[in-house]
Amino acid sequence: MPILEKVDRLADARAWYGDMPVESLYTAGIAGERFLRAIKDEGRLLGTHCAHCDITYLPPAIYCERCFAELNDWVEVGPGGEVHSFTVMAVGPDGAPLERPVVVAFVQLDGADGGLIHYLSDVDADEVEIGMRVVPVFKPAGERRGSILDITHFKPA
Ligand SMILES: [Zn+2]
Repeated sequence: MPILEKVDRLADARAWYGDMPVESLYTAGIAGERFLRAIKDEGRLLGTHCAHCDITYLPPAIYCERCFAELNDWVEVGPGGEVHSFTVMAVGPDGAPLERPVVVAFVQLDGADGGLIHYLSDVDADEVEIGMRVVPVFKPAGERRGSILDITHFKPA
């Protein structure tokens, strides 16, 4: 049966026993790599700006999703920002209650039209508010690996 042949009865489907001989390599993409390198090497947050639409993308994009223009205007955003929304997690991914609640916030960075979803710490969960001013906390330069977790969390400004 060719791979693209439609199976009408489940019993006609073939099974593959053992390991699938498939490998995948995921990348951050062109804009994502530059964004993560700026965090790792410089402790800066970079977005891309579309002059036509006057939108600054964060995370950065290599083309404008509104007018499809190629974006080459890299701009520094933040580091400060504002809590746009947040949630307080009391249960971990395994379903077990957490020792302390964890706050995850969508932070809109100054100068950007987008933002980052990240941990919000150094504040009691009951004190978090929409509009709260926050700043990122970066790992020390020698410990950064080119990951969004090179920002350990955001904290109140
Ligand atoms: Zn545009």
